[in-house]
Amino acid sequence: MTVAGLKALFAVAVPAERLKDDEDTLASCSRDTTEHPPGRPDLVIMLETAEEAVAVVKIAAAHRVPIIPRVAGTNLGALSVPTRGGAILDLTRMNRILAINEVDMIAVVEPGVTFGDLVAELKARGLPLTIGIPLSPPETSVMANCLLDGLGNLSLLHGSMGQWITGLEAVLSSGEVIRTGAWALSDVPFARAPLPDLTGLFVSFQGTTGLVTKMAVELKPVLPLRKRLFVLTYERRTTYELMRRLARVKLFDDLGGLSWPTGKMLYGVARPLEKDPDEPEFFTYVDVTASTPRELTAKLEILVAELHALREKGAAIEEPFDLDTLCAIAPRFKVFAEFPTDLTFLTRAPGGGLTWVGTYGPMSRFDAAADKGIAIMGRHGFPPVIVSRPMKGGHFGVLRFITTFDRDDEAEVQKVRACNGELTDMVLDLGFIPYKTPLAAVDRILPRLWPGTHDLMRRIRAVMDPAGIMNPGRWRLDP
Ligand SMILES: Cc1cc2nc3c(=O)[nH]c(=O)nc-3n(C[C@H](O)[C@H](O)[C@H](O)COP(=O)(O)OP(=O)(O)OC[C@H]3O[C@@H](n4cnc5c(N)ncnc54)[C@H](O)[C@@H]3O)c2cc1C
Repeated sequence: MTVAGLKALFAVAVPAERLKDDEDTLASCSRDTTEHPPGRPDLVIMLETAEEAVAVVKIAAAHRVPIIPRVAGTNLGALSVPTRGGAILDLTRMNRILAINEVDMIAVVEPGVTFGDLVAELKARGLPLTIGIPLSPPETSVMANCLLDGLGNLSLLHGSMGQWITGLEAVLSSGEVIRTGAWALSDVPFARAPLPDLTGLFVSFQGTTGLVTKMAVELKPVLPLRKRLFVLTYERRTTYELMRRLARVKLFDDLGGLSWPTGKMLYGVARPLEKDPDEPEFFTYVDVTASTPRELTAKLEILVAELHALREKGAAIEEPFDLDTLCAIAPRFKVFAEFPTDLTFLTRAPGGGLTWVGTYGPMSRFDAAADKGIAIMGRHGFPPVIVSRPMKGGHFGVLRFITTFDRDDEAEVQKVRACNGELTDMVLDLGFIPYKTPLAAVDRILPRLWPGTHDLMRRIRAVMDPAGIMNPGRWRLDP
């Protein structure tokens, strides 16, 4: 169908000025910052209401037009880049916070509500509540992050963000609007339990099962005292041992183990390939919050005791230092002390390319995966930028191998593809799973996946989206 034909179809549901086919708009949705292949939409539809969303889905289904939901497009897996044309559903204007239920600690949001929006609203209302905040830019979507089962600064305590969803409202390609969780029966979307848990049908399915228009999500209490501490853990084994130990004491909000190039890039070195001889290979940050000074002191004492215990076992490890104190002496460290941490050094790196092999996996194998990952990245000429954090009390963790590159240099793009392919095979061998799974990783996963699992995913997709229009291509679910 011609673009003019498409516009005429959707003009029944959405005013013409919100149906975009200008070059700039189409180009901005045709690729992301990664090495994954581009794909051009035919049209971008800027939705404003849930009613428009239902009408647009019905039209798309009737005419078999692919629809691809998108907010900021920062998932780093090209998951909102079309694989076979169609219409991008730009959800940035569906940005209402529909409810904040202070007593039950739940927010109900539309897809375009960003982390920046929600945090600002909670602050404006003076509520000591928060959402788990990722390291992504503040203009990224809370809903997309939860649907992709991402992670935030409270994932050590509360798990990945898919688990924070208490219920949702979605449009299926039949045009039906369904609700999940307690919200299917109660006017308070208080939990996924105790009805059969249908919310998972939308989590990590990358928009292939339905268009979510409303989501209820947990909020967590914010304690008044906060500190970020920094520990020189020197090498990766000590870092991961410390992360495993501290996860178990259940006292800290977040823990992160970062490799030396991460620190150097934070301070402006674009592609650090050489570690200085006396530079620690790894360092660790510890976020701690408390209700009272006594509670804070007690938590810090336990941190120090854990560090001593490791030192007694022979680990080189320093006393923790408080970043606020350090910043007073050396203001350049402020970039690291700020919360949420500003990662502009990654998003605006020279060449505009940013990618990762981001995985969830067992903490027991972090050392092995880091050993191998560092060797692979080095072989391909990339600095070993590693960001790792324990999650859900240490039951598992996130391990990311991050690369910045020149995305207009085809030779470099090929190099990144080769490096990330090798990293993906390596992590899969060790039992890790790439999250926000890009197609390049899907193709490496499918031959290893438990028999029947992919077939079941395909059958679920066929029931939820019989028209096959919802973000086609993802997870290779199309017939
Ligand atoms: C520098 C940097 C740091 C990052 N750090 C983190 C981090 O710490 N933790 C983390 O989890 N992520 C991180 N990310 C990844 C990403 O930014 C987050 O997952 C983000 O929340 C995605 O939001 P978005 O608005 O960009 O989503 P988009 O990329 O626009 O959407 C992602 C996909 O979600 C699906 N989707 C979106 N809306 C809907 C809907 N309404 N219905 C159905 N499906 C939908 C679609 O498949 C869509 O393609 C980081 C990214 C960058 C660039």
